[in-house]
Amino acid sequence: MDGFALPTDAAVCPGSEMLGTVVDPDAVEVLRYNMSMTREEYEVYEKSVADFLKREGLANLSSKSSEPFFSWHACECCGDTLGGNREEANGYNPTTKEVQDYEFICEDCIYYVEYGN
Ligand SMILES: [Zn+2]
Repeated sequence: MDGFALPTDAAVCPGSEMLGTVVDPDAVEVLRYNMSMTREEYEVYEKSVADFLKREGLANLSSKSSEPFFSWHACECCGDTLGGNREEANGYNPTTKEVQDYEFICEDCIYYVEYGN
């Protein structure tokens, strides 16, 4: 067996373990990069957003703002309390058949919900 090395390790491309779990890996890669998150933090973030959509009964979430505005108000979606760009958004609730409005949604959530799903 000496001299015969299985190529398993060499064949694993760095970062490839993160692919395959999302619909659009490129969008999520950009998001993760922008948010400087570890993989664990990102999983917590994904859960926060999923919980928000479920809690609110939303089928979608779309920006209504022509431009983001800076605010220290916590993001209503992910609960992020760091100051940053927020957007007004709304989403459709299929249960009540009504559009629900939100005033402070961070750009990350807008981006994530629109492109990450
Ligand atoms: Zn957010």
